[in-house]
Amino acid sequence: MEGLSRKPGILIVEDRKENIYAIRKILEKLDVELIIAETGNEALRHCLNNDFAAIIMDVGLPDMDGFEVARLLYGEERTRHFPIIFVTATHFDDYHKFKGYKVGALDYITKPIVKPILLGKLQVLLELYQKRMEIGALLGEMEDKNKKLAGEIERRKLVEEELRQTAEDLERSNRELEQFAYVASHDLLEPLRKVKSFTVLLSERCGEKLDEKGARYAGYIVEGAGRMEDLIMDLLKYSRVRSGSVSMVRTSMKEVLDQAISELEAVVRDSAAEITADDLPEINANPTQMRQLLENLIGNAIKYRGDEAPKVRLAAERQTGNWLFRVSDNGIGIDPEHHDRIFTIFHRLHSQEKYSGTGIGLAICKKIVESHNGKIWVESAPGKGSSFCFSLPDGEEEGVE
Ligand code: ADP
Repeated sequence: MEGLSRKPGILIVEDRKENIYAIRKILEKLDVELIIAETGNEALRHCLNNDFAAIIMDVGLPDMDGFEVARLLYGEERTRHFPIIFVTATHFDDYHKFKGYKVGALDYITKPIVKPILLGKLQVLLELYQKRMEIGALLGEMEDKNKKLAGEIERRKLVEEELRQTAEDLERSNRELEQFAYVASHDLLEPLRKVKSFTVLLSERCGEKLDEKGARYAGYIVEGAGRMEDLIMDLLKYSRVRSGSVSMVRTSMKEVLDQAISELEAVVRDSAAEITADDLPEINANPTQMRQLLENLIGNAIKYRGDEAPKVRLAAERQTGNWLFRVSDNGIGIDPEHHDRIFTIFHRLHSQEKYSGTGIGLAICKKIVESHNGKIWVESAPGKGSSFCFSLPDGEEEGVE
């Protein structure tokens, strides 16, 4: 409130000194800021910049009557709610006419002014003013909070947008990498197969011209090329597992298991492995990738066997919104310190001589499970067998037929 202290302001609009004195005297005990205006214009000027808890206005002013001042104040949004107490001797009729069509707090007292009456009316107006101030402060606080909240929402939107952008970039660069790995592996295979087949041809056709060392070296070339071929083939498989946007259909895990076992027929037979399974559910998944997943996990369960014939079991457990699958074996087991690392590409725990492999199989499994919005992990200890677990959303709430 410009020009006034923080005390509530009361405007006295009165041209006669003795009346001003009388009103001042009546109000002297109130903790208020008194402003005096001797004309209607002066009163209007004060009201331009100040907020008043009450205006005590003489009806008969030198330049215009008090009702005119009130009319002008009520015409302005900022001043229309200033409460006015008219001080009148003879204008009761005018007052009632005026009150009939004007809004706002209006009241009157008659001359001579009776102290308790004026004080009583002012008391009510001061309390109203106090409440108005408190509500104003609360509204101000709320407005500040709203502004802060709006700022915070804006900031979060920006962060979300940045995250979305980063995810998009990552997705794109993954695709490019997959594409690159695919093309590179594909193009590498051809010359490699040439190296291998011509070395085989060389050994066969010119075998008698090679001495024992030469024949051994040719063997190394064929073996190395074969190994490299496995590696490239696995890399190709890895790059073909599309992360995101794989086509999903209702997939019978029982059928997927049968296909995986038939792919592994030779190793199952050679190792005399026993493969059993629970009742397996239908889930929303990509059947090719599911077959690849089970083939890798069951293939490993057989490969990393101990002294006994491999026993592999596929269990399925219903959880809220998920199916938890578990491929358990009675094999050599894995030290817990390697449980996370074995899922990264090329991470192997054994030499080629002991267990052949490329170190890509579990990385493919992880990629498949994650592209289905699932999780994969292992529970195992050396000598205690391993359980490779993966959980997949059952997709039933997505309404897949
Ligand atoms: P690879 O079998 O070609 O080496 P994987 O990515 O399939 O590659 O497996 C990574 C490593 O995890 C393996 O080298 C092996 O040490 C370990 N591993 C995987 N499956 C099993 C299992 N069922 N039992 C014991 N060790 C396993």
